[in-house]
Amino acid sequence: MVTSEPERELLVATIAVTQAYRFAIDPTPQQADALRSHIGGTRFAYNALLGLVKANWDENRAKKEVGIEVTIDDYLATRQFDLQKLWYERRDVLAPWWSENGVSTYNYACLNLSKAFANWRSGKCKFPSFKQRGGRASVSFMSGAVRLADSHHVRICRIGEIKTYESMRKLNRHLDRGTGRIMAATLCSNGARFFISFTVEVQRTIPGTRPPERVIGIDVGLTTLYTGATPDGKQVLHVENPRHVVAAERKLAHVQRIASRRQGPRKGVAPPNRWKKANARVQKVHAGVATSRRNLIHETTTMLAKNYDLIVVEDLNVAGMVKNHSLAKHISDAAWREFTRQLDYKTKWYGSTLVKVDRFYPSSKICASCGTAKAKLSLATRTYACEHCGHTIGRDLNAAINLARQGLAGTSSVTGRGAKVRPKHQQLDAKAHPDEASTKALITIGV
Ligand SMILES: [Zn+2]
Repeated sequence: MVTSEPERELLVATIAVTQAYRFAIDPTPQQADALRSHIGGTRFAYNALLGLVKANWDENRAKKEVGIEVTIDDYLATRQFDLQKLWYERRDVLAPWWSENGVSTYNYACLNLSKAFANWRSGKCKFPSFKQRGGRASVSFMSGAVRLADSHHVRICRIGEIKTYESMRKLNRHLDRGTGRIMAATLCSNGARFFISFTVEVQRTIPGTRPPERVIGIDVGLTTLYTGATPDGKQVLHVENPRHVVAAERKLAHVQRIASRRQGPRKGVAPPNRWKKANARVQKVHAGVATSRRNLIHETTTMLAKNYDLIVVEDLNVAGMVKNHSLAKHISDAAWREFTRQLDYKTKWYGSTLVKVDRFYPSSKICASCGTAKAKLSLATRTYACEHCGHTIGRDLNAAINLARQGLAGTSSVTGRGAKVRPKHQQLDAKAHPDEASTKALITIGV
């Protein structure tokens, strides 16, 4: 032990991070109708306003063509405020039922449409198009319109108390203690289920970076998801792809195959029911697989960030990799990206360090025992057998050990093991996913 406990305690920073909390909700049939009405109202307002703007612009163009003078005042403007004003003027005619839904339903549509126009103007996107019924849809509520009734119920203005599937205990505790503030709440639906997600500003107390005493290298695999080892060659982590996830993934491939064979919608014809049904099935299995995998990744990354000081992973450059069309590979790449993304911000929260080793470092080709490197090692070879020293070891474990050593070697020049370590301050950057962990400000650091 180099750093004593009290010294560690001193290095504490409080930062405000924006975190997203997402919960599946279980509305009653009446509530589900009301939720659908809000989502549909948003879509209606979006399409109606887009139609008005388009018609107005077309009319102006036609006038210009025949030589009628058109001034800037003849054009409908597309800032959020302008669109809101336009909606207030026309809503009684366009949507006599508008008062059935909350005001934010329509304001959200105006906001989205103005954003779509702004993106089009800056050349980022195509001209806004009309939103289709079905598929992904969402509506945002003003922060005052949604609050937690308790750990299992969310109260939405005009809709009432809706039960959540999971406990919102952690979020509730933040709100109770005053360390969290709801910035926005968004309701979304994937066609089968409803979710509510909160954007919350949370005050997090984060410790200073710990010296690298507990080091782990992690290798990703297809059958064994994560294999972790220490630099001295001990395996300390083994995460198997859970059986239910494997089964669900197989089922996903199956239903996707069915959906791909269905005749899709054609112009002017209502989408075929068999196509809709097949796609709904895909959605459902997809959502289940995604949830299980996300939970597993969250559990693993939290455990790692809390229990290790230095976590070494391979920097997987997905774009630069050879295209591999297998579904399993595709899924594992996505999972790996999510894994490193979570580690990136969680290591900052818990005072550990994440090191990404260059992807050209041949972690799986080097012998962990004698250090000689093989020229070639096919992906199918699951056991590493060294021709030089005769050492045999599991491929993933071998790679994990090498990663741990490489990561430690890379940091030892800064913070040597056994030396008097001066812990560095957290490097806080906002590169993490904006929804989950954009670090806003560094408020206090005690030394
Ligand atoms: Zn060897």
